[in-house]
Amino acid sequence: MVSRRTLLQTMGALPLVAGCAIPTTRNARNYTPSGLPLRRVLVSDARIIRTVAGLRPFRPSGFNVSAERMDDKVVVHNYGHGGGGITLSWGTAHLAMELALQTPHQRCAVLGSGAVGLATARLMQDRGWDVTIYAKDLPPNTTSNIAGGQWSPTSVYYDESVTPAFEAQFEAAMRHAYRYYQNLVSPKYGVRWISNYGISDTPATGEGLTNKYADMYPQQMALTAEQHPFAAPYVSHYSTMLIEPAIYLPQMLQDFYGAGGDMVVREFTDRGDVLSLDQPVILNCTGLGSRELFNDNELIPIKGQLTFVLPQEEVDYITIVNDGNLYMFPRSDGILLGGTFVRNEWSTEPDPLETRRIIDGHRVFFEAMEDPWA
Ligand SMILES: Cc1cc2nc3c(=O)[nH]c(=O)nc-3n(C[C@H](O)[C@H](O)[C@H](O)COP(=O)(O)OP(=O)(O)OC[C@H]3O[C@@H](n4cnc5c(N)ncnc54)[C@H](O)[C@@H]3O)c2cc1C
Repeated sequence: MVSRRTLLQTMGALPLVAGCAIPTTRNARNYTPSGLPLRRVLVSDARIIRTVAGLRPFRPSGFNVSAERMDDKVVVHNYGHGGGGITLSWGTAHLAMELALQTPHQRCAVLGSGAVGLATARLMQDRGWDVTIYAKDLPPNTTSNIAGGQWSPTSVYYDESVTPAFEAQFEAAMRHAYRYYQNLVSPKYGVRWISNYGISDTPATGEGLTNKYADMYPQQMALTAEQHPFAAPYVSHYSTMLIEPAIYLPQMLQDFYGAGGDMVVREFTDRGDVLSLDQPVILNCTGLGSRELFNDNELIPIKGQLTFVLPQEEVDYITIVNDGNLYMFPRSDGILLGGTFVRNEWSTEPDPLETRRIIDGHRVFFEAMEDPWA
């Protein structure tokens, strides 16, 4: 039996053919938490528009947000966000800002102009500081521009390598970031709320971020076979924000300039080079660059690659299959298809075998999905 409410929701959302809605029993399976049926992603070689790869700045023990005195400077580190740097940027920026505010100064250098450096710079400006960003690469040429942009701090640490002190820092950063980003939900910043579908061959374990921090993953529920259109035994739903780097990062740069910030394009070769700056406080947001600059050998790359197919305005949901083995984010600059995590790989050349796996895997997955319009 289809309830009246479900039937009305389904009918209301169906396309009209010759002026008539066409409800069928199959359409009832496309009930979703939003009440709208989901449209299928069209995946084929002919629709590919680009493939890119980037290096997640990963530390097994988690990001480094800490202050240390070096010569006559205070250096506040804020790097090593792994696969969650877009998500956590405002959060660790807040923690770094709190450390910088303990000094008597009002002038700082921010090293790095990715998501982390820009959020850090903006928060320091908001506290009345005079801020100069120094970076060798600016958007669109940072790792942050490669990111998918789902608001979820995944692949940031290994469970077995973190301390309770880090876990407290992580949760604080996550909560600050969750709140900050909600102020930016708008077309202007390219931030929006979106439904996520976790699709799996095996039952949920009850572990992971979505369970541990359930209040930051609203609308979380397991779906029955009648409540989703996917050909998979286990499907769950939650909502997150999606941040589109190609919109968000240029807007952050604009905000930084608008608040009177200075930008210097410069590459630092080592720590001595950094300490030659004349600002008394230096906020280090150089991501993977910190490995060389500050001899942090724990910091390693985890390579990820993404293939984009032509955008589809009608697709507005995220899919994550088998814990990220395949994932799809619908963005205005293309439908992003991903699912690679290659540890300690420094090359940013896309691997054609991975491209094939991602494309074929998503094609098979979406062809098996029900779509009332197809
Ligand atoms: C495929 C892929 C998908 C991802 N998806 C997501 C996602 O969905 N959600 C999410 O939250 N995160 C995601 N991430 C992770 C995210 O991209 C990173 O965590 C984030 O970009 C790190 O930001 P950052 O500002 O620290 O580093 P970067 O963006 O790398 O910026 C570092 C800055 O420091 C500068 N710099 C470095 N070294 C030097 C030097 N020696 N001298 C001068 N300047 C220097 C660089 O030029 C740059 O300006 C993804 C990453 C990849 C690769």
